[in-house]
Amino acid sequence: MTSVKLLFSLQEFDLQLDVLDGRITEVELELNARAKVEEVENSLDEQVALLNEIQTTHKTQQIEAEDLKERSTVLEAQLYSGEITNPRDLSSLELETGNVKAQIDQKEISLLELAVRADDLRKSVGDLEEQLETSKAEWEVRKSELTTQAKSLSAEKDELNTRRNEFAANIDQSEMGHYEHLRQSKGGTAVAKVERGLCQACRLSLPTQHLQRVKSGKQTVLCSSCGRMLFLG
Ligand SMILES: [Zn+2]
Repeated sequence: MTSVKLLFSLQEFDLQLDVLDGRITEVELELNARAKVEEVENSLDEQVALLNEIQTTHKTQQIEAEDLKERSTVLEAQLYSGEITNPRDLSSLELETGNVKAQIDQKEISLLELAVRADDLRKSVGDLEEQLETSKAEWEVRKSELTTQAKSLSAEKDELNTRRNEFAANIDQSEMGHYEHLRQSKGGTAVAKVERGLCQACRLSLPTQHLQRVKSGKQTVLCSSCGRMLFLG
């Protein structure tokens, strides 16, 4: 076997290993992402935080409303006690009582609005909690599939790697260095097949003389366009 033929066969191993590496990376990425579960968890956290905020505001406003009602009771008692007779004092007391009552009305509208929003949020939190349970259950199934896939891919890779290294042991070290260097710089393909006089990597039509040298197989010939080693399949 000429060295370029050996290198071409080695490249078949390496390209298969590249495909396996790609699949292993995909599986690992998906395993790390927990994508759907995380998405639902984030929405749930957001809605719960919002609900807490509204509940706190509701509580504060309720206390304020209670204070206003107490104030209103005191003012009304004063107003109807008959103790205040001065017309100016009386009218200012009336004004204040009216003012406090208006504030109470406003508070009650606002409390009602807050209660409606809190109800909506509680419903949405409930829905999200259900959704989270479903997503978690689905994820457990997917995770176990992915873990099985990762194990089998890793075993496949180990086995292929062993065969590849056994094969590589037959190849001259300097040829090997040249091959590795080309594979790194040429996007994984160091050896290009020649078919119908064309370099299959860059589609350049090889000059006859060049083609003759590739055919003789006595030395490694590089494509004059893409620089890859040429191999006549
Ligand atoms: Zn080429």
